[in-house]
Amino acid sequence: MGFSKGTSMTTTYRAFVLSKDGDTVGAAIQHRNMSTLGDGNVTIRVAWSSINYKDGLATLSKGGIVRDYPRVPGIDLSGIVTESSDARFKEGESVLVTGFGTGVSHDGGYAEYARVPGDWVIRCPENLSPREAMIFGTAGFTAALAIQRLEHQGIKPESGPILVTGASGGVGSMAISMLSKLGYEVHASTGKTAEHNYLKQLGASIILSRDDVSTQGRPLEKEKWAGAVDQVGGDTLSWILSTLKYEGAVACTGLTGGVKFRSTVMPLLLRGVSVLGVDSVMYPASSRATLWQRIAGELRPDHLELIAEELDLEHIAPVLQQILKGNIRGRRIVKLD
Ligand code: NDP
Repeated sequence: MGFSKGTSMTTTYRAFVLSKDGDTVGAAIQHRNMSTLGDGNVTIRVAWSSINYKDGLATLSKGGIVRDYPRVPGIDLSGIVTESSDARFKEGESVLVTGFGTGVSHDGGYAEYARVPGDWVIRCPENLSPREAMIFGTAGFTAALAIQRLEHQGIKPESGPILVTGASGGVGSMAISMLSKLGYEVHASTGKTAEHNYLKQLGASIILSRDDVSTQGRPLEKEKWAGAVDQVGGDTLSWILSTLKYEGAVACTGLTGGVKFRSTVMPLLLRGVSVLGVDSVMYPASSRATLWQRIAGELRPDHLELIAEELDLEHIAPVLQQILKGNIRGRRIVKLD
């Protein structure tokens, strides 16, 4: 592509585009004119994006993510600013964007260029490359938010073990790695027997099976965990509530196992248990940069590369289907540069 500075010499860019025909959503790589970029005051030459569960949902006609087509999905992106009328960002700076409308109501990261509102943009911390920023992406940011929620609840490494469910996925891998870096004893539940060794390498000391943590038990079972990061929901969340220790808390991040859960008020009234919501999408822009500094510093796993696998734009489509089946381990990052 012929450009060095700015976007003035660039006329087209490649993008993975979703289109809808009746009830069917199709995907194709297109050469788009620069005039198709979304509204916003910061234009970014996208270097990296990533694959999240929500990006998989975006490809489904009834996934509830994308309403207007054509749409470039990709809820995460990082790269270099090529044009900015926002005084906070200068040409040539490394930046990252996660959440807000990215890849949902606004064209996202599966394209060589993106234009977004400056309020969505975060400067990459000095010790975090655009590539590393996408290994974390929304999954890492969500795991960090969940840990922050547990900490605000007073939970510390000495409080006891933390359970991470859906452990081999993106949020799960990140949560295990970050908690273990902070000195927590981490227990992990997974549906993938082949990934026990991987989870131990990330820092989990005990591995449970997915079935062990999704049983229909009594309202109060034996107390086990000081806290939990749960990205499964459904029966797993019900079971976690009955097994949290006194004043324990569960940070709810996901729904891969279902949106409905059953419980009673007993864990809340008799054990002072808390259910904590986690939302990475609309988390206030004003607090994001501080959390990214923490991600790049004390929360940064020593084995970041173990979690990541690279792919290019041409290989996105099958991976988006795989993630919906729960078959992806760790994080897949998309190379655009
Ligand atoms: P991944 O697909 O990478 O991870 C999900 C993991 O959940 C799978 O790897 C699998 O792990 C487990 N799983 C899959 N299917 C089932 C099932 N039927 N029952 C129980 N467990 C299952 O997805 P992400 O990490 O990107 O996202 C995880 C969840 O978190 C999603 O629901 C997503 O929507 C949500 N999310 C929410 C955010 C927020 O802001 N609240 C932000 C980001 C994600 P294993 O085989 O190890 O059990």
